[in-house]
Amino acid sequence: MVKRSYEFVDIALLKQREKELLEREEKETTRIFKVCSRCRVRKSLLEFSTDKRNSTSKTNTCKKCKIIEYLKYYYQNQAKILIVNKKYRDDHKGIRTKYFQKYQEDHKKHLQQIAKVWYQANKERIKKRNLERKLILS
Ligand SMILES: [Zn+2]
Repeated sequence: MVKRSYEFVDIALLKQREKELLEREEKETTRIFKVCSRCRVRKSLLEFSTDKRNSTSKTNTCKKCKIIEYLKYYYQNQAKILIVNKKYRDDHKGIRTKYFQKYQEDHKKHLQQIAKVWYQANKERIKKRNLERKLILS
């Protein structure tokens, strides 16, 4: 094999290529990234929630900042929040269960149809899973 010498590379050409790549990256990043208005960090658009009212269709603060904001609020008002939640649960006791029981009775055939279609689609996977479970148990 021939040993390559890298000393004879055209530096000007290399710099030109580097500049082009940097320019391209900058152009692409403007579409993919956004700066969070709270932490001032440039982040991927995936790290922002959807907000249709915003012109960029993304929120101005990133998800992490939103979580921190919520946790701060939660711990500052924990007693109040817990009381409100408990009151709601006590006032609506059993309503959800009743609602779902009624729904299952009213939509019995429809739900059976959905379960049947799902079973047909996942038949092989279920068989495989059951086999694996048997092997683990034995
Ligand atoms: Zn942020």
